[in-house]
Amino acid sequence: MNPAILYAAELCGVKRIFKVGGAQAIAAMTYGTASVPKVDKIFGPGNAYVTAAKQLASLCGVAIDMPAGPSEVEVLADKSCVPAFVAADLLSQAEHGPDSQAMLVTTDAAVAEAVAAEVEKQLAELPRKEIAAKSIANSRIIVLADKQDCIDFTNAYGPEHLIIAMEDAAAVATETTHAGSIFLGNYSCESAGDYASGTNHTLPTMGCVRAYSSLCIDSFQRKMTLQTLSAEGIRSIGRTVELMAQAEQLDAHARAMTLRLQQVATLPQEDAGTGIARLVRPNILKLKPYSSARDEYAGKAAHVFLDANECPHNAPNNRYPDPLQWDLKQKISAYKGVAPERIFLGNGSDEAIDLVFRTFCTPGVDEVAAIAPSYGMYEVCADINNVRYNAIPLEEGYQFNAENFLQSIYSPCTKVVFICSPNNPTGNLLPLDEIRKVLDIFPGMVVVDEAYIDFAPEGSSASALLEEYPRLIVLNTFSKAWASAGIRLGMALAHPEVIALFNKVKYPYNVNILTQRAAMERLEHMDEIRAWVDEALAERTRMMQAVAALPLCQEVYPSDANFFLVRVTDACAIYDALVEQGIIVRNRHRIMMCENCLRITIGTPAENDELLAALQKF
Ligand code: PMP
Repeated sequence: MNPAILYAAELCGVKRIFKVGGAQAIAAMTYGTASVPKVDKIFGPGNAYVTAAKQLASLCGVAIDMPAGPSEVEVLADKSCVPAFVAADLLSQAEHGPDSQAMLVTTDAAVAEAVAAEVEKQLAELPRKEIAAKSIANSRIIVLADKQDCIDFTNAYGPEHLIIAMEDAAAVATETTHAGSIFLGNYSCESAGDYASGTNHTLPTMGCVRAYSSLCIDSFQRKMTLQTLSAEGIRSIGRTVELMAQAEQLDAHARAMTLRLQQVATLPQEDAGTGIARLVRPNILKLKPYSSARDEYAGKAAHVFLDANECPHNAPNNRYPDPLQWDLKQKISAYKGVAPERIFLGNGSDEAIDLVFRTFCTPGVDEVAAIAPSYGMYEVCADINNVRYNAIPLEEGYQFNAENFLQSIYSPCTKVVFICSPNNPTGNLLPLDEIRKVLDIFPGMVVVDEAYIDFAPEGSSASALLEEYPRLIVLNTFSKAWASAGIRLGMALAHPEVIALFNKVKYPYNVNILTQRAAMERLEHMDEIRAWVDEALAERTRMMQAVAALPLCQEVYPSDANFFLVRVTDACAIYDALVEQGIIVRNRHRIMMCENCLRITIGTPAENDELLAALQKF
């Protein structure tokens, strides 16, 4: 036996080695003999007789890796390849045996010629040139018209080894659906996979790659499934099991569940709680709440602060701010009629949107759904957090129908829905009754983004539903009606359990001391805010009427916000012309369902007049 094999086996901890081979070895391992024990799985290459024996063995309760035949390599090459490397790779397959096959596929005739010349040159120097020459006679160099043809050929052929010596090797690999083992780029030779880089040499041949995978560590393992049903589990899937069993007329199956359902029905119902905890990302549940020594000892009225490495000068900006912003929350609470424990403050409501993802959605697993068209940050945050985004179109005229919306949510992994009302960019308020239906039916978190609610009629806010629905999150912001976009302050109003989670996940001191003071100051000037909102509403009516009368206008959509959407003759041309005059509106032409739409914000009466004057020219 080759000592190199014995040494490698010992290194790997192989304890028993049998010097047997051929179809008779497969028979011995399948049934067991006096000297060879019966085994459960047989892996590894062999000749045509061994392969046939393995296939028979698999009828006798032994697992096999795959039917493996003569070796194959295909090289996909473009002008970036090194012809000498490619020729060496083709020959390294050819020297296996006369029935091996080596293929070069390219779109470049010059590459084909250079490789053919190299093959001839290197073949002459090989000790196993007799064998290799026979195999080369079965082999081909194929020149195809374009790259797609090369990829289609590869997928139809399904080579055991595929070397992609192309500039965009990784991109070509993503389009490859049938190959045993793939080697990318000029340095990745098949010999590396055979001996050192860690993949395996036992691979499906003869197109068997359609049904079989390459041998790997996974092949040496088996998987078992395991389950425990709780009383809650019986309640939730019991009826499904009964129905399926009855449909198959397997009454004993059905009874196994019916008896348990009857017993569970006699148990006292456990309190379902808020239902929030089961939606939270598991790793977030384990986080400890944020606190600092100053919170813990706040009652002691300390006056010497030598704990946080601050500078003692430049008060009050020198101190870290109250991390949970309690004073500000008290003030907002008095104005909003929402308890301070139900308020989260963030660096804009954008921070709260991001926190929804980080708190509830496991990256790569969970999904969110949102109305479309809507505010762009939901999708941006979904992308950043690697969460699938399901954009569900609104109805005709941007109307919202809860049943249709919910029917477009197919995945049980949908953790959150986003509903923006009044909606950006369409401007319309979505009916509270429809939002209530979503809360009644959808089992995950429901975010209602009310950035523009202060411009809508009183009584239209979903915050009135907070006590009733613990899974509701309402977003507000100081950036719109409060005329404070520069201070970056947003709010999430939600059940205290959600607020506590956000406070754990957010960065400490996310709302700085200047922002906290500026917001306090705004809250002292409510009359001013109300006057500005009244002005915006009057101007909105005036502007919508004036724009509707312009020749460029096709349709002005109703608005409950401090902007409105208008469909015009040519949104891009009008947008560009306005920019030339120093006036910027928002071009929504490329957004779903907003072809040729501009979104116009309500400014001061003077700014609005300037826009109207400019639009009159179209
Ligand atoms: N939600 C909506 C619907 C918005 O339009 C915006 C800002 N344009 C925001 C949230 C973000 O607001 P903030 O400035 O509070 O981050």
